[in-house]
This record gives sequence, C-alpha cells and structure tokens, in this order.
Amino acid sequence: MRLYNTLTKSEEEFSPKKHNMVRMYVCGVTPYDYCHIGHGRSYLVYDILYRFLESEGYKVLWIQNFTDIDDKIINRANELGIPPKELADRFISEYFVDMDRFGISRAFVYPRVTEHIEEIVEFIGKIIEKGYAYESDGDVYFSVRSYPYYGKLSKRSLEEMMAGARVDPSEKKRDPLDFALWKSAKPGEPYWESPWGKGRPGWHIECSVMSLLYLGEEIDIHGGGADLIFPHHENEKAQSEAVIGDGKFVRFWIHNGLVNLKSEKMSKSTGNFIVLREALNSYKPEVLRLYLLGTHYRSPLDFDPQALEDTGRAYSRIEDTVKLLAHIPDPPSPVYDQAFFDFKSALSNDLNTPQAIGVLFSYIRENRPILDKGAWDPILPIFKFNLLKMCEILGFKFSELTKVSLDTNKLREVMDIVIKIRNRLRQEKRFDLSDEIRDSLNSIGIILEDTKEGTRWKMS
Ligand SMILES: [Zn+2]
Repeated sequence: MRLYNTLTKSEEEFSPKKHNMVRMYVCGVTPYDYCHIGHGRSYLVYDILYRFLESEGYKVLWIQNFTDIDDKIINRANELGIPPKELADRFISEYFVDMDRFGISRAFVYPRVTEHIEEIVEFIGKIIEKGYAYESDGDVYFSVRSYPYYGKLSKRSLEEMMAGARVDPSEKKRDPLDFALWKSAKPGEPYWESPWGKGRPGWHIECSVMSLLYLGEEIDIHGGGADLIFPHHENEKAQSEAVIGDGKFVRFWIHNGLVNLKSEKMSKSTGNFIVLREALNSYKPEVLRLYLLGTHYRSPLDFDPQALEDTGRAYSRIEDTVKLLAHIPDPPSPVYDQAFFDFKSALSNDLNTPQAIGVLFSYIRENRPILDKGAWDPILPIFKFNLLKMCEILGFKFSELTKVSLDTNKLREVMDIVIKIRNRLRQEKRFDLSDEIRDSLNSIGIILEDTKEGTRWKMS
C-alpha cells in the first residue's frame, strides 16, 4: 500500500515495522460537547484505513485517547456547575453513541489523560533531565529553540512561528515559542501533585506518553486532522524525540483534510458546524459515509446538504441490489472478481476512496442486468460475495438483509413445497422444468434423489 506521509511530503510504500501488526495512534477528542461532522469525517478516514489494512491481512492495534482534562472542559463544567469529570464522562459516552451509530470500528484502547498523570509527570521529568524543558514558577515549558529538529513535521521556520506566536500574560515562558508541558493549578481547578507543585498536564504531552506507553517507539501510523499538524503534532514529535531520539517516534504521519461549511473550517469554537448526531438523524449512516468518502481523505471537503441528497439516491442503488441478492446463496468458497482487486488497488493507492466507490458502482452497473432477469445465474453468488466484501470495507452494514437464516424446519417446509410442485411437473411430463429445478438445487448444494418411495433431498 502507498500512503502519503506528511513528514516526507510524499507517498511512500507502507508496511508495518513489526511482523504483520500495524501500530496506529489517532488523536482523540476533548469531550466537552457533541461531535460535529468534521470529527465524523476524521474518524471515518481512520476507520476505513483500519478496515482496509485488516482486509489485507494485517492486525491493526488502534489506540485513541480522550483529552479528559483541559481548559475547555473546565470552563464548560463551570458554566454548568458540574465537576469536570462528570462532563468528560458524559461526552465520552455520547462519543461512543454517535460513532457506533456511524459504524466507526472501536479502537483497541481509549486511554484518558487523567488515568495517566503518573506516567506523564515521569516523562516530563525526563525531558527536563535531557535539558529540553525548564520549570518556571510551578509551570514546565518545552524550550523550542533548544531542540534542533523543531519544525521538521510542519515545515515551518522559527521566524514564521514567531510571527504567529501569542503570549498569554498568565504564562511564565522564557520564549514565546515555548509550550507548556505542565500547568500549575489556578484556584478551584482540578489538580494533581507533581515535583513542580499542584497542577495538570499541558495538551500535547499526553499523546507522546500514551502512544509510547501503549505502542512503543517507531509506531507505524500517527493520525489526526490536518489542523493538528501544527502545533499539536509538531510538539508531540519534539517532546517525544527529545527523549527517545530524532525520528524514533512515528514512521508515517497521516492527516485528513478538514470539513468546511460555507467555505469556512467547521469548528466548535467558531460555532460554524453541524452536529454529527443531527446529520445521523437526517441521513442513514451509510449515506453519510458514502458522501464523505466521495472526496479523497487529504482534500478539504465542502459540506453540501444538496449533494448529500444525491448521494442518498446513489446509495439506494447499492442497497436495492443487496436486497435483491439476499436470497442468492454464498459461493461454496471465496471467488474474487477482478472488480474486487480493482477496488482494493484503488484503496492501496493512498486510500483513494472516490476511485474505489467508482469501481463498486460500475460493478453494480455491469451485473444488475443479470440480476434483473430474475433467473438463476451462476455468476450471482460471486457477484453477491464480491459486492458485500466491498461494502464491508466501506463499513456498510447489511447483516439483517443478507443473512438468510433458514432454520431446518423452515427449510424442510420449503423443500416439501418444491418437491410437490416438481412431482406435478413430472406427472405432466414437463421434464425440462423438473430437471431445471433439480439442477438448480444441486448447484446450491441441495441434492434431490428420486426413489420408488418418492423424492428425497439432502444437503451435499
Ligand atoms: Zn494527539
């Protein structure tokens, strides 16, 4: 598979560093409110990457954090008059309600900042020891100018960063470029004990610590939205590699494009957003998935409700086909069509979902006439198998439509009817039809035996 690596600004051949295990860390949400479509798109991208890699035979160890302590959580909890933990717990469960409904696969572990304070404090201590961070009146800062590789991921120079740097007067930095690893507690805020006094971690340090703790060094993929490249991922990389060595943190940095609404970035803080749950109330999860996957993951996406209506109609074509295929048996063993290889090859080309979706629709176009004839055709089980495989990788769930769960009693009743009709045909000497019934049943694994006592059937 080829994947675009933000670090090298190029597509590179991807394979995991260790065995067939892909170690993937994805930056999670700060649970202080409901997720918007931008979050939905981001986790959908990693869900598709996960599903595709698993379908290629890899095991994906996906770790995703929750930033469950942060200024935004503290402020919102104060507004509502509830403890920050209560707010974070509530929106972590809301996160799962929405993402489960949207069909996002579950990560392996969802570590939370507040459950890893001890490891975070220990890691900050190591950065200070190495000489890349300093304590200042209860805060700890990473000294950006002392670290020679800072800016390598986001390709920014110190001058450019200086121009964008803002100084908060409450911070006690030596340099506007420095960023907080530990913040001393303000009165009334939740705090933890540390060698620098009571406080809590800065935003970026958690991901370094949890990624290293759960996945080790040189992990295969670290992902998130393009808005995380700077400063979040630049800072994660610097503080991690200040301790473990340059280039030792992550192999592939993957970033998805953002979702725009009315040509502006969809963002909670600016109020320009559509809540994912509302979208899921208006559209089927599969329609929303198909719509978002219709744009390549690295491109920005202009959210357009009108286009979503069109996607709804396109999706009905898939759903309708799957429904018609529901009564077709599965092939006795997997038979892969060229279309399936084309589909996979599109995805292995930097996860080109628009191209893969194109393959899926032309596969339907090609085979629908055979299906629409309504007659048995040996191509149909193969069509069903390959189409459902594609749908599975795109995260479309049809289990209730496609699992024909005929229990044995029901099957016996159905076979009694079939045999009775076939006997009538034989009495009327319409052997072409009675033979066709026998042969068709035979091809799906049901064998008819005509004996003196009558007709028996058995599974082959
Ligand atoms: Zn992160």
